[in-house]
Amino acid sequence: MSRVDILGVKFDALTPEEAVAAAEALPYGSRVVTPNPEIVTAARNDPELMEIINSSGLVTADGIGIIYAAKLLGRKLPGRVTGIGLVTALFERMAKREGSVYLFGAKPGVAEKAAEKISADYPGIRIAGTHDGYFSDDAEIIDDINAARPDLLLVCLGAPKQEKWMASRSGAVHAGLMMGLGGVLDVFAGEVKRAPKLFQKLGLEWLYRAVTQPSRFKRILKLPGFLFAAMRERGGEK
Ligand code: UDP
Repeated sequence: MSRVDILGVKFDALTPEEAVAAAEALPYGSRVVTPNPEIVTAARNDPELMEIINSSGLVTADGIGIIYAAKLLGRKLPGRVTGIGLVTALFERMAKREGSVYLFGAKPGVAEKAAEKISADYPGIRIAGTHDGYFSDDAEIIDDINAARPDLLLVCLGAPKQEKWMASRSGAVHAGLMMGLGGVLDVFAGEVKRAPKLFQKLGLEWLYRAVTQPSRFKRILKLPGFLFAAMRERGGEK
């Protein structure tokens, strides 16, 4: 699988369909991460996070900013592979073989709501368990996951907490595949709406989220810095 370096993070150069096939082909216990520009920026200042991301089984480009940076750097990434797009495609396929999923993360009650929605939308999927993402000791959570041995474990603690949790617990947790997916349980639960299709198509989902969730606005302000860093890197290569 060829990987494309964007400011140190090595992304798998895959279309959404190829990414689904790649996720299914990963060895038992692999980790999937879907970095956006904000996480790439964080990883540049955090070597441990950089190593955690680059040692994951699959690294997909979540966010149009990553694609812009690839273009600026003259490197080829086929397009965005969002975490939510990837997990819903996996759900469709898992439903056919009665695969199981454990939902870990978000505020109390959200994972249960998400479970109801997932069961309704993808009959055939087994919900192996749920747990909220606010804890001081995760030993019981790990026991609960291990008793269920899910095919898929969604770890939705926000970045970089979820990436660090997956890496540090990967030896202790028994799940076929672990995916770090930020706020997707909130989306499944209907707590946060996805942007209208047109915004998604234009790659402007970030703009919709910034306006509808003003708390996210300061994150958007980091995007120019990220693109400048890509430009500087390109300048340095010449
Ligand atoms: N979250 C959590 N535990 C924490 C911090 C956050 O479970 O200690 C959850 C939070 O409730 C939300 C998700 O992690 O559901 C983060 O969502 P966000 O959209 O901010 O994700 P990001 O953009 O960081 O991927």
